[in-house]
Amino acid sequence: MSTHVAETVVDYDDVVARFDPVLGLEVHVELGTVTKMFCGCPTEFGAAPNTQVCPVCLGLPGALPAVNAVAVESAIRIGLALHCSIAEWCRFARKNYFYPDMPKNFQTSQYDEPIAFDGYLDVEVETDEGMRTFRIEIERAHMEEDTGKTSHQGGATGRIHGADYSLVDYNRAGIPLIEIVTKPVPDTGKYAPEVARAYVTALRELLRGLGVSDVKMEQGSLRCDANVSLRLTSSDPLGTRTETKNVNSLRSVERAVRYEMTRQAAVLDSGARVVQETRHWHEDTGVTTSGREKSDAEDYRYFPEPDLVPIAPSREWVEELRAALPENPAVRQTRLKGAWGISDFEMASVVNAGALDLVEDTVALGSDQGAARKWWTGELARIANEQGVELQDLPITATDVARVEALVGAGALNDKLARQVIEGVLAGEGTPDEVVASRGLAVVSDDGPLLAAIDDALAAAPDVAEKIRGGKVAAAGAIVGAVMKATRGQADAARVRALLLERLDVTED
Ligand code: ADP
Ligand code: MG
Ligand code: ZN
Repeated sequence: MSTHVAETVVDYDDVVARFDPVLGLEVHVELGTVTKMFCGCPTEFGAAPNTQVCPVCLGLPGALPAVNAVAVESAIRIGLALHCSIAEWCRFARKNYFYPDMPKNFQTSQYDEPIAFDGYLDVEVETDEGMRTFRIEIERAHMEEDTGKTSHQGGATGRIHGADYSLVDYNRAGIPLIEIVTKPVPDTGKYAPEVARAYVTALRELLRGLGVSDVKMEQGSLRCDANVSLRLTSSDPLGTRTETKNVNSLRSVERAVRYEMTRQAAVLDSGARVVQETRHWHEDTGVTTSGREKSDAEDYRYFPEPDLVPIAPSREWVEELRAALPENPAVRQTRLKGAWGISDFEMASVVNAGALDLVEDTVALGSDQGAARKWWTGELARIANEQGVELQDLPITATDVARVEALVGAGALNDKLARQVIEGVLAGEGTPDEVVASRGLAVVSDDGPLLAAIDDALAAAPDVAEKIRGGKVAAAGAIVGAVMKATRGQADAARVRALLLERLDVTED
């Protein structure tokens, strides 16, 4: 069986001219609790396989689960932050299915009684008409437990097909998960991929702000399944959706939605039907391939979990948690927009780069907001994107960036040198000051060597010197350039220019 059959796709502009996309986003977040959802096993990432297990999370006969109160508290706080209603009374259910990564042969989950329901999250996306707010309605946020992890050995693809044998690690089995599911999201038109990405970004920021998870997509603590369907117009009933699984970066969310739209359009154009199925996202080739067919009426034989008592959070507790929520992200963004004097668009680009905390921290350490934004949403965002990692996982901190900016402010570094210092910090060469010292990157601030370099440059280009003396100040750029080159970029260009004009006795008008 080939899993990489190239499929026909329709040009994106053509798709959005003729079809109306509808999104549905499911995000699983692994809570950062110290222990698992129903037992006392530790949850730390990266331990040796099957060292964080017990009879409960291995589903051994007779083992009895008990609910992790911190996980329930986190679930309620997430629900409240998403403007959800919190159930007065809800239960866990058994979702029965057989798979080797699930030792109990059922997943303890919530079914028709989620702890949180009916909320929303607003996200901002740049459109042709300026910034636009898209309200993403939340259907539910429910508690469940993670499964173990299967790895297929010996094959070329890491998939079960072609593998010699499989290994299972149950360390992850029973880690608390919150699944946050949107209602179908209509009316995003050609912005559907950007809206999907902006939603996951905003949700990640919200969860990070709540401190409930480390929200690391590449380690799987935040996972997104992207549902997409197409219909001809927004007044038609919903089309058949596909569910692209485990898209594990923000950029991939956008790419996967875009790709699915172009693929589904081609299927519909050919007169065929879209198959309701899960699909796999391939980061390298940028395509999705067919997973398993999935109907809406899959029979998991849900029934209430008899080993756990219902959860009935008192209204006092819920209100206490609501009152103690951190500042709502939208409120925080409005506040910072005012403090920094930036536009909606500028704020959205900080947020959508996942850079708000980093920029805020850098500013708090004394940097100019413009400089802080420039580093984090420009150079550093580009590098993170290239390396396929999140901004805050780059080996550079707000403290480093603030220090580089302080050196620029003090005239010890110019832009070009600052870039090299950042590069050195990212390469693990130490703090900005250590990189400056070891690479010898300080700006030449002593006028002596600068004047000598200016004289050399003038001697090498007597015609240019003559022009400047004759009043053509614009020609000074060539000499400044030559001096910058001679000092390997370590001069302050403005200082060189001033010295040059002084030398030639010309004034700028
Ligand atoms: P499943 O159990 O198949 O994962 P869920 O209800 O958990 O189903 O999630 C399905 C997601 O897809 C939800 O976000 C839902 O709003 C969305 N959705 C449902 N129908 C459609 C559709 N026709 N097109 C796009 N999204 C849809
Ligand atoms: Mg689902
Ligand atoms: Zn356990």
